[in-house]
Amino acid sequence: MEHGPIFGAMLQEFDGAARLLSLEPGIWKILTSPKRQIIVACPVQMDNGEIEVFTGYRVQYNITLGPAKGGIRYHPGVNLDEVTALAAWMTWKCAVANIPFGGGKGGVICDPTKMSKREVEALTRRYVAEIIDAIGPEKDVPAPDVNTNDQVMAWVMDTYSMHVGHTTTPVVTGKPVEMGGSLGRREATGRGVMIATREAAKHVGINLKGARVAVQGFGNVGSVSADLLARQGARIVAVTDWKGGVHNESGIDIDKLLAHVQQHRTVDGFSGGDRLAGDKIWSLDVDVLIPAALENQITAKNASDIKARILIEGANGPTTPDAHRLLHERGVFIVPDILANSSGVVTSYFEWVQDRYGYFWTEQEVNERLERKMCEAFDDVLRNALKFKVDMRTAAYIVAINRVATVTRMRGMYA
Ligand code: NAD
Repeated sequence: MEHGPIFGAMLQEFDGAARLLSLEPGIWKILTSPKRQIIVACPVQMDNGEIEVFTGYRVQYNITLGPAKGGIRYHPGVNLDEVTALAAWMTWKCAVANIPFGGGKGGVICDPTKMSKREVEALTRRYVAEIIDAIGPEKDVPAPDVNTNDQVMAWVMDTYSMHVGHTTTPVVTGKPVEMGGSLGRREATGRGVMIATREAAKHVGINLKGARVAVQGFGNVGSVSADLLARQGARIVAVTDWKGGVHNESGIDIDKLLAHVQQHRTVDGFSGGDRLAGDKIWSLDVDVLIPAALENQITAKNASDIKARILIEGANGPTTPDAHRLLHERGVFIVPDILANSSGVVTSYFEWVQDRYGYFWTEQEVNERLERKMCEAFDDVLRNALKFKVDMRTAAYIVAINRVATVTRMRGMYA
């Protein structure tokens, strides 16, 4: 199959692990072929009366383990290469987390920041109507991604429900709690990052109490990670975001920083520490570094500045392959994104289970189950890293590929 650069990057990671597993060529071909790629035209009447036609995608990369799972992204840069690669990464993330989902992803080429709420709603409903035969609680369960949120998920659920004639909450996750969303979902990814950090510290032999931690990004993932780690006794010495950063060797007061961000929408200017330029975060003398903002932040250029012994990828794809190699060679313990931030999709799975069951768990129950799932996934990956003498990223792929390959073999070829 012809593919673009983002899918090519996914294949590179896949190939390294598949080789170590001596994956047979037939299964290799299946696992590197997207099962379904849907492209739809979505006409929408805009507020000015004109009709725009938006291109939408939904890719179900692999559904061997269960329904496809993955977000819907609204962005001008969406393209089939990106959506396919993201759907493949969801396949491996769900398999590492050991939840009964395959991998999917959707996207629409649009700029929602230039659209009214009514236009975004109309686009969402038309997009869902165009892919309606492909989605459903047992087929494909979307979720929020870049520029989509719980309101968009509410429209997805409503549109699907109107088409099938009855309320169907488990068709989508990331919904408001009032209509079938799960308690604990908002904090889930940061909670998983905290658990991954705690387990990594145990393995490396760092006492989390008093460990110095720097966090890039103070949004959903970064702020919850910092808050929960501080509650575990870690010292959050630096936080940066899109505008700037703050540094305090004796530990930043996260409650006060949260209040500052609520008011100013940035950590910049916070009085509880010294000002820190965004790119200075990499060279700080810390034990743990958590990129929780954007992709491609740690590159061959800044990797040599990094002094941390543990790197936890809260964001998706924050470390380039070159930087990953350099850091691994220097003995930095890297917990890869498909493990470190997998708690988001695990809690989506919990939401789907609760919706299908029609019985909802307390936040404590959600958190306890999340803790168990995350620790099991961490142990599986670490065990394989030690067994195959590889880094944690390759080990995560080994765990994921092994799970999907085993079931593919058991199910056999149809026809
Ligand atoms: P968010 O929008 O809530 O927060 C992003 C943060 O990054 C903000 O603090 C922003 O100021 C900061 N930022 C933006 N540009 C920056 C720059 N150039 N330098 C430094 N900081 C910058 O997003 P989020 O939900 O916290 O997601 C962060 C990352 O985690 C993304 O890669 C996302 O794909 C990934 N992720 C999120 C979830 C989830 O449940 N939210 C799940 C899995 C993975």
